[in-house]
Amino acid sequence: MLPVARTRDEARLYLDLTPCTCGEVDADWQHATGLLDGELVSVYDATCPNCDAEREYTFGLPEHEIAADYPNFGGAEPSQLIDPGRWMDLADHLAGNLPADDSETVAQALQFAAAAVAEVMKFIPPGATAVPADAFWTPEGQATYNAGPARFHRTRLKITQQTYRMT
Ligand SMILES: [Zn+2]
Repeated sequence: MLPVARTRDEARLYLDLTPCTCGEVDADWQHATGLLDGELVSVYDATCPNCDAEREYTFGLPEHEIAADYPNFGGAEPSQLIDPGRWMDLADHLAGNLPADDSETVAQALQFAAAAVAEVMKFIPPGATAVPADAFWTPEGQATYNAGPARFHRTRLKITQQTYRMT
């Protein structure tokens, strides 16, 4: 089964977080929708500007794409591309690198950070109070969890999210 990219915003974020094997992050991604084994899929390809490698990523499409304000990472179901630790890293990075002199950029970064925290919360199973340890499937995400598991409790996440929304 292909991992589902719930929205284009999510697919692009995943690509931004996934460097080429040579380490290059930049790429001019071309997007196409196609058929693979009878399923509609979303294909992104690019030539690495550093090492000329052909890079291609194929994602499944969600059953329903939710229209919402930017950034729109997906519906209520948790991401299959980006684990909760990496979402938290993203929120930390955005909120920790705010420009001092550009209020519009600050507002957008915090909106993005709040949306990333909302993505972390989608990994909390129904009836549970925290993201379970086995929800983290990348080494980066697991490191973030191990550095502060308490941050992944629902209450803490809500506070973090509201802080970003109010700032
Ligand atoms: Zn490369």
